[in-house]
Amino acid sequence: MELSYAIPTKVFAGNNIILQKSDFLTNLGTRALLVTGHSSAQKSGALADVENILAKQQISYAIFSDVEENPSMETVIQGAKIAQKKEIDFVVGIGGGSPLDAAKAISIMAASKCSEETLFTQSGLDYFPVAAIPTTAGTGSEITPYAVITDWKSRRKRTLPTNLFPEVCFLDANYTASVPPQVAVNTAIDALSHLIEGYLTRNTNPYSDALAEKGLAIFAECLQFIQERKFQQEVREKLLLASNLAGMVIAIARTSIPHFLGYQLTLEKGIAHGKANGLLLQSFLAFHQDQKRVKIILEKLGFVNLSELGSFLKEILSVGSEEHFTEADLQLYLQNAANNLEKLRNHPYPATVEDLYTIYEESLLN
Ligand code: NAP
Ligand code: FE
Repeated sequence: MELSYAIPTKVFAGNNIILQKSDFLTNLGTRALLVTGHSSAQKSGALADVENILAKQQISYAIFSDVEENPSMETVIQGAKIAQKKEIDFVVGIGGGSPLDAAKAISIMAASKCSEETLFTQSGLDYFPVAAIPTTAGTGSEITPYAVITDWKSRRKRTLPTNLFPEVCFLDANYTASVPPQVAVNTAIDALSHLIEGYLTRNTNPYSDALAEKGLAIFAECLQFIQERKFQQEVREKLLLASNLAGMVIAIARTSIPHFLGYQLTLEKGIAHGKANGLLLQSFLAFHQDQKRVKIILEKLGFVNLSELGSFLKEILSVGSEEHFTEADLQLYLQNAANNLEKLRNHPYPATVEDLYTIYEESLLN
């Protein structure tokens, strides 16, 4: 039996954990670049904690706070220029998946001094050590080797071929307290998509299965609170843990069709990443050939059948509020998605263009 499990990121979780484990941050280097979104790092309180720790140890740092949602290559280039100018030797990503992914990409580009084209196409490039501090409970980027960067030239969200696991991540649910409720819902559904997709790809193994099953069980304990939008501390702790476990799942098993099709909804309609996946989940699960595994997922979550999961998702994602899709939209998405087939290869069975159209149609036109 051939198996592999190799997730090197150190995880520290708990209230004010970064203050207790600050050595694991300060040992990473002597000059840092802090990579953040526009305001989440401040609102969450994480930026202040990091700045205090670095100042105490007299570690100099610069802040790059221009990362937008679904970060673009242009933003990465800008951040890498600052990193090189300031001669930094480690990077701290603070924020949702967007700043964390940008931090990874900036670290690679600054250390390897590569071009945009090389960053998008070459694996195994050099990088500076990265610490990751999530302020959303969703992407698991703090423990995955992936950085998803938007390439507006080809209208694609592209995963960089260089694998970069953060050296260390700090999970503190205090940092997710300021997340607006709809963002908390959308990001939770991204974590759920990782658990579900990662349980159903061709790359699953006993490690990813165990992590996914535990993650689904923890997620099940949060369902009612997500529905009621009551994100008290205990729920946020569970969601942050479930999201981290889900990150480990996709670090091993990767994602598949919902992420593959969902990227188009984000690019073309600006739909949040987690919501985009959530819109497609029910139809994807109905289509999936391994219904035995689908049944285990539903059982772990405590849903009696797929349509119950579908109704839950519809309700919490406030579907129908802003999105309107036409048949022509769906054809366009399929054409564009054809440039980005890598994720489709993670699906264990052949999927035709008609199959994919049906998933879009069932999810978006009915
Ligand atoms: P995000 O794009 O990082 O953030 C969404 C919004 O939430 C932003 O407006 C952000 O504000 C705000 N926000 C974040 N934390 C907050 C806080 N504590 N308080 C108040 N506001 C807060 O959302 P995300 O869903 O976490 O990340 C999505 C990105 O991750 C996508 O690009 C997706 O492709 C990627 N992703 C990566 C992986 C991976 O393995 N690498 C996996 C799944 C998804 P600011 O603008 O101020 O930051
Ligand atoms: Fe995702």
